[in-house]
Amino acid sequence: MVINIGRNKENDVVIDNLKVSNYHAQMVIDEESIIFINDLQSENGTFVNGEIINDPTELKTKDEVTIANISFDWKKHIKKDNSDEKPVEIYAEKKEKNWLVIILISLLITVVLVSSLFIINEFNSDGATIEEIKKVEDSKEENNIKDEKTSKKTKDQKKEKPKKKIIKPVNDEISYDYSCLEDDKDIGTTSLINIASEIGDQVVDIGTKKVSLKEEIDFASESHDKIKEEYQFIYNNKQKKLNSILKKIEKEIINPKGYNYKIYLIKDEAINAFTTGGGYIYFFEGMYDYLESDDEIASIICHEINHNELGHLRDYLRVKKTNNNLFGELGNILTSMQSILTINFNQKKETQCDLHAIDISIRAGYNECSTSNIWKRMKDEEGEYNSINNLFRSHPYSEKREYCAKNHLSSNYGIKCK
Ligand SMILES: [Zn+2]
Repeated sequence: MVINIGRNKENDVVIDNLKVSNYHAQMVIDEESIIFINDLQSENGTFVNGEIINDPTELKTKDEVTIANISFDWKKHIKKDNSDEKPVEIYAEKKEKNWLVIILISLLITVVLVSSLFIINEFNSDGATIEEIKKVEDSKEENNIKDEKTSKKTKDQKKEKPKKKIIKPVNDEISYDYSCLEDDKDIGTTSLINIASEIGDQVVDIGTKKVSLKEEIDFASESHDKIKEEYQFIYNNKQKKLNSILKKIEKEIINPKGYNYKIYLIKDEAINAFTTGGGYIYFFEGMYDYLESDDEIASIICHEINHNELGHLRDYLRVKKTNNNLFGELGNILTSMQSILTINFNQKKETQCDLHAIDISIRAGYNECSTSNIWKRMKDEEGEYNSINNLFRSHPYSEKREYCAKNHLSSNYGIKCK
């Protein structure tokens, strides 16, 4: 369960105070009822026992939380019965009202009222006919309409792009069909893949060891230190662009699991992007340059977000934990960079991320065809589809990914992409 805290009315707990950011912090209760608090890169910070937090921080009964400079009674918002119902509440904080502004506005309204009365009176006393008064009122109305028009125009001019109409799915429920992974060209290899992936899923289900959100984040943050040693991160306009697209997408995640997403741009020509879970996403510069629009960037970011939201990393770690019994020492998993970069998801999981990426992109107003466009371009570069290699590739061939994406759009949204 996630409880969003901030000044914006969309939050579960609204704190009406100017020091509090619109989307300030987030409390997350994981499946083992461990409670975390995340700061959402707020302006004035989130504090636990007086210390500013940068990473998701576990809350213990006696911990005191401060949102900006406001003491926050977090226990009040945690339901003991673990029900999914969110405690929606407006925090009754003392408002920092700006009395001067209010007095000025009231004065202005009084002046306008008095002067308009005065004008009408003047006309009447001058012996104006009813028609004349009507004319004045008509012209006033006309001016009002003109004003409205001009104010609307300036508003429109401020917008960079006309807002894209959000496409709605044909049915209430979106369906995810993986039969697109099968095809006639291969000699049963695809069905093997599907069976293999089912077995993989079962292993995860049977695995008794659980992996908490905290363990996943610990893994990702240790991986991050290794990645930092190995690669050079770039902080420039490209990275800013990735961040701004990420912000737009994050809002459209349905039932977010509470990851605090971070995106890093790596100086490397490879056309690749990956995630180590825990909300850490990595984009190679080669991938950034390969993509042709914000819509395509959004599609790839959504894909990586979905590996997190759909618990794919958690599954991977659960298998590791069950097999090794070594999870106590996280370091053992991270014997080399190799192990981080070769986390492979099966074809079904890759396709699952593609299809969910389309749904999020659509909700965020990005082009619905960008996912299939990327794979179409990759297909042209990849050459012919080879069914023998297929089994050994975790990323399904681009041709199949293009086909699956198109299939998802036509069956759920009635849209055909070129
Ligand atoms: Zn993937």
